[in-house]
Amino acid sequence: MSAAAFKVWIVDGQAEELLAGLDSEQRQVATTFGAPVVVIAGAGTGKTRALTHRIAYGAAVGAYRPNAVLALTFTTRAAGELRTRLRGLGLPAVQARTFHSAALRQAQFFWPRAYGSELPPVSDERLAMVGAAARKLRLAPDSGQLRDLLTEVSWAKVTNVAPAEYAGIALSSGREVSGISAADVGKVLGTYERVKAERGVIDFDDILLCAVALLGEHADIAEEVRATYRHLLVDEYQDVSPIQQTLLDFWWSEDGDNAVVGDPAQTIHSFAGATPAFLTGFLAAHRSAELIRLVRDYRSTPQVVGLANRVSKANRIGAVVLESQCEPGPEPRIVGCASELDEATVVARWLVEQHEAGLPWRELAVLYRVHAQSPLFEAALTEARIPFAVRGSEGFYQRGEVRQVIGELGKRAANTPEVGAADACRQVLTALGWSEQAPAGQGRVRERWESLSAVLALAEDLVSGRPEATVVELASELEQRAAAEHPLNADGVTLSTLHAAKGLEWGGVALIGVQEGTLPFSLANSPAEVAEEARLFYVGITRAKRALQITWSRARRSGVGNRQPSRFLDGIAERPAGSPARRRPREKVRTALTETCRVCGKPLNTGAERKLSRHADCPASYDEAVYAELVSWRLGEAKSRSLPAYCIFTDATLMAIAERNPSDDEALLAVPGVGRSKLEQYGEAVLGILGGA
Ligand code: ATP
Ligand code: MG
Repeated sequence: MSAAAFKVWIVDGQAEELLAGLDSEQRQVATTFGAPVVVIAGAGTGKTRALTHRIAYGAAVGAYRPNAVLALTFTTRAAGELRTRLRGLGLPAVQARTFHSAALRQAQFFWPRAYGSELPPVSDERLAMVGAAARKLRLAPDSGQLRDLLTEVSWAKVTNVAPAEYAGIALSSGREVSGISAADVGKVLGTYERVKAERGVIDFDDILLCAVALLGEHADIAEEVRATYRHLLVDEYQDVSPIQQTLLDFWWSEDGDNAVVGDPAQTIHSFAGATPAFLTGFLAAHRSAELIRLVRDYRSTPQVVGLANRVSKANRIGAVVLESQCEPGPEPRIVGCASELDEATVVARWLVEQHEAGLPWRELAVLYRVHAQSPLFEAALTEARIPFAVRGSEGFYQRGEVRQVIGELGKRAANTPEVGAADACRQVLTALGWSEQAPAGQGRVRERWESLSAVLALAEDLVSGRPEATVVELASELEQRAAAEHPLNADGVTLSTLHAAKGLEWGGVALIGVQEGTLPFSLANSPAEVAEEARLFYVGITRAKRALQITWSRARRSGVGNRQPSRFLDGIAERPAGSPARRRPREKVRTALTETCRVCGKPLNTGAERKLSRHADCPASYDEAVYAELVSWRLGEAKSRSLPAYCIFTDATLMAIAERNPSDDEALLAVPGVGRSKLEQYGEAVLGILGGA
């Protein structure tokens, strides 16, 4: 046997071995070369596994040069996960990067040649620059508003919204920064760009823009980049944003044996500009591409998969029907709790049960919608001596606002030790600008409010156990909890938001806070926003390999509450014992803005809530299909009249119309936001949509 043949024999043997752990469709992903490959498949079907094996197989048979491969994904953690899997397959040198890190490397390398100077440094002082921009405009945002402004700066950039366009577009797409007008936010965006230019720096979002400009203006450099990275592989492709896609187009060689994989049902970053359209439209854009679908779920038991399929169907998520390949396991549990405090106890007990049944702590996770939900659960886990690590966020007690409250309570404990714990806590929070009413907008202002509310919940909890507890006890309790906050623990339960859990898996998963107002989140009002929340729930369910517990609670803290289980649970399981049926109030025609919520009867807080006659987080009673039709009609109307959509009707008014379902002019006129002139212009069309529903 010649040396060459011997070599081929070795390579073939290795290559065959690489395919041994793949099913027939996954093998097709790993072995199809000569055309781009697109994989559209459900959660847990082995997309990431097939992708990494394709790289390994391609390298083994000589289709790929390992140092010409670039594997792309969206978060640093996901890139790390890809690198780990590639190392496991014997490919430590293959590049696995986020779009940002790949773009930055290229821009830094080629900038001097293209423009005769170094790429300006990437500033990590974005907040300070937003602050400087705001000051130039004589605005005085607090730290929460600053973070929200930064979110808007970033969103405007990835979605290509110019500062001058911001106000119109933000209003119609429901974006707002609490306490700052949209017009002023638009001005901040423009001034922020000038501040950056004055300082001679770029920011994180500019990295992609710089790379796009570089490659767009210098065809020779683009050519060189394409020659360096011949083979591109993109994981989680459903979450690609338009600017990332533009960059990918520059990098792409049609004959590079590239592959993209994704699952449209797991698109959870559309709020940041991502769209699954590039994945679903891939075949149309690349006519020679090979579409491969993976159909078997290797991650989860038939019971977990069954629930995921039911959730997809009931909530019209449109996920492919999954077929489990795993041994049967326990039925997922859905538990309704009286309060979050009870829920935390139920979850801690469940984790202990799973651990006693043989799952290591690191094989368990508690997943939630927003970071602010975690403190009560962290406390319950600490009490039950369960080790845990919070993923993707600083620990609760490390947050600036929480440290500030603890510091203030410490001072009060020294000066006025006799004051009651809950009273002192309320005073401190009020002095820090907190009020009972949640601020408008999502983002950092809301997060800060939630953190401060969580501290109050802990104080009230202390007082409900010991009514005579003073500020001294509260301060010392919080200090102790802060000191005991677990550092990253190698064998600990993972506490994570649903967003940060994408692509990961655990033996047992507890999904918490699955109630209206939390999932879907209270600020997700439009059908598109609610649909994204449903996908987020779906992503959560499909993280579980075997054990799954879903909990919700009626009261926010320890008191009495009237929260309802999430609408996403409707029709997928028996309503938990003791849970009241969701109230679907009969519509009444109102002639004035009502002041109390027609669902829960409590006072309304904001103008938008008064328009709807219910709290934003009390269950809506409109038909989503009707609302979607109204929104689509509004879009057409706005286009034909060259007006921003909100000038036709605001979201709140459209929602109120869908909820009240008026059948004639008079009833339509009674909907807040519909005046005589709107009735004349749009009445017939709107009533036509409602009548046809
Ligand atoms: P997600 O949509 O959540 O990102 P995915 O489609 O990328 O999921 P993977 O993470 O690649 O799925 O695989 C899910 C689990 O199933 C992993 O533990 C993986 O090792 C296992 N798996 C995938 N394919 C097979 C197979 N053919 N045989 C055995 N195990 C498999
Ligand atoms: Mg994956």
